[in-house]
Amino acid sequence: MKAFVPEEIVVERGCEGSLIYRNLRLALPQVPLRFVEPTGQSPWGGILSEPTARGRGASRTVEDVFAANGNGDFGAAKKKLLLTRHKGEFLKKCPGSEGQVCCNYFVVNFASNCPMDCSYCYLQEYLAQNPALKVFSNVDDLMAEADELLTKHPRFLFRIGTGEITDSLALDPYIGFAREVVPFFAQQPNVLLELKTKSDCVDGLLGLDPKERVVVSWSMNPQPVIDRDEHGTASLEERLRAARRCQESGYRLGFHFDPMIEYPGWEDDYRRVVEEIFATVDWRRISWLSLGVLRQTPGLKRTMRERFPRSELPTGEQVLCSDGKLRYFQPLRVEMYRKMVGWIRRGAPTVRVYLCMESKEVWEQVFGYAPSCEKELGNQLVNFGF
Ligand code: SF4
Repeated sequence: MKAFVPEEIVVERGCEGSLIYRNLRLALPQVPLRFVEPTGQSPWGGILSEPTARGRGASRTVEDVFAANGNGDFGAAKKKLLLTRHKGEFLKKCPGSEGQVCCNYFVVNFASNCPMDCSYCYLQEYLAQNPALKVFSNVDDLMAEADELLTKHPRFLFRIGTGEITDSLALDPYIGFAREVVPFFAQQPNVLLELKTKSDCVDGLLGLDPKERVVVSWSMNPQPVIDRDEHGTASLEERLRAARRCQESGYRLGFHFDPMIEYPGWEDDYRRVVEEIFATVDWRRISWLSLGVLRQTPGLKRTMRERFPRSELPTGEQVLCSDGKLRYFQPLRVEMYRKMVGWIRRGAPTVRVYLCMESKEVWEQVFGYAPSCEKELGNQLVNFGF
């Protein structure tokens, strides 16, 4: 996978003492650096200080810096990296989707936006007003908050993920986030940390001891889908190789077929991916696999058409569901899930498979049952992981 290198790093003053800053400077000494003064408001309210030796230009607002590179242009905003302090809570419950079965997942946001650029990425809509690629420097606050939550509920088994509004590992070669947090989460008795990625940036994980508390998971798609719609991500072969390296280093694994895409020949392609997974890694060390079809709001569909006019994804037939998202017709979704479950069961008879953001009706048609509540599904998943 071709490594992402930002055109410029913009640093909010006060972040210079952080481990993330140190890691960034060591890994990317050639990248120009600018400092901005914090204002106590949003990180976008700062004023640029005098340029550093490597910096350039006179003092301008942070907005100017990003506007110059097209802050309104989602693709351009991914090219600069902003290091800032996170000013709110790090941990929150995954919002799920109205009317769909939820898996009771917590998310912790150590960064915002992603250097890769999938045509279907929901961040194009979710972060449309604030698309800058940001990394938060106060990882110590993140761990203190997690520690408080985990200690307060010692009997609850938490599943926490970092890949809600960014990719968990794509920036890791520069920021070294995994190296900071894996030892912390590995010591906790009541949590599974999931690092979800489409990259192969796992070097920072190897050599740490995850103590069965860390699941590294990959979003999977056949190579033709990766080529057409997952721009800048690792190839299927690279993802599988990275998964094997993680498994050999003691990590549990997860795989997410999400979003699944229907196209002529999809059956053969997805069946082969399933077979390749089980030929590459030991399925008994897989904590979970999830399935979810392509879905998007009408607004995201418009953005996809504008940003990726050659993508065929927005042209397929879809219906509007109760959560306001467009999905394939229910019979087609059920058929896709049933086939996938059949191929998975052939290679891994007892591995845990769940559906992401699907209705109880679909669950029942695919598995013959639906979790009675989100807690039930969350507990099943976490128990499988432990
Ligand atoms: S890897 Fe994930 S977060 Fe990054 S662009 Fe693709 S879908 Fe979005």
